[in-house]
Amino acid sequence: MKKIYGNKQLLSVLEGMIVNDRPVNSLMLYGDKGCGKKTVADYYTMQLLCSSPENGRPCGKCNACRNVAAGNHPDVTYVETSGKLGGYSVETARNIIADAFIKPNNDSGRKVYQFRDCHNMDPRTQNTLLKLIEEPPEYAHFIFTAESKYEFLPTIISRCMCLGVSPCTIDETAQALEEAGYTPEQITSATNSFHGNIGLCIQYLSDQQLRDAVDLTKKLSDSIIRKDEYGLNAVFMSAGTDRSRIKRILSMTDKLVRDAAVLAEDKDAAIIGCSRREAASLSEIITPIQAGRIHDLLEKAWGSVESNVSIPLILTALCGEIMDIVIG
Ligand SMILES: [Zn+2]
Repeated sequence: MKKIYGNKQLLSVLEGMIVNDRPVNSLMLYGDKGCGKKTVADYYTMQLLCSSPENGRPCGKCNACRNVAAGNHPDVTYVETSGKLGGYSVETARNIIADAFIKPNNDSGRKVYQFRDCHNMDPRTQNTLLKLIEEPPEYAHFIFTAESKYEFLPTIISRCMCLGVSPCTIDETAQALEEAGYTPEQITSATNSFHGNIGLCIQYLSDQQLRDAVDLTKKLSDSIIRKDEYGLNAVFMSAGTDRSRIKRILSMTDKLVRDAAVLAEDKDAAIIGCSRREAASLSEIITPIQAGRIHDLLEKAWGSVESNVSIPLILTALCGEIMDIVIG
């Protein structure tokens, strides 16, 4: 059973439902990528199916718990996405509805459906699922995970218990990384960039692409600090044209700019971006108001990347607009 760090309140809500034998049929778990939503989804799944939970906690040893941990429990469905954008289709929703009315075949008498990484779920799919979510068979449970609950229609949100999965403290994160076998140096470098987000810390240590994206974000910030339009453009162009990579870099730059605004008011404030040092330097160059305007530009560029505008076009325009703010 995967250990869950932090999130004590969330766990006590879930455990309370099992102790009182009133688990919700529809649970929505939201929070940043990497903070453990899928781990919590599997935990709730185990709680629902475990043959001998202890104070609401799954035992981790029974067949049901072991099958869930191995990802092959016959009454747990990890609903599959389809299409180029990896969405949930209306057809998939119809198949799930048909399946949900077939009774489970296990001692717990429950079935669980996990819809993971919901993003831009087609409203038609959501409306198809709505009836099922409104009046589910007693034994059927649905878990949705998403970065924000506002990925969903208000009608779906209102039928779910919505719980946030939060980043951990640095100490909890360090403990998790230590238990995963990382060295103190690795732990420091990962938590400097990704703080209490255990998933992203582990990805940072194992994925060169993420380390490159962090480096690139720092270089972008350096160019802004030097008010070097040519340099800023060159760094943007070196990022390539892969849309998900560009979105990641824009979002990391946005966090760093946000940190600069916060550090201008309080240099000891907690940060969310990938470099305190960069954010502190940037805070000496731009005012919080300028930071807010750069945030608007980054958000607009992020939206353009989503909607298929040419990447070089977006980045060249962004570069000029940022420099107008910094220099103007
Ligand atoms: Zn168990």
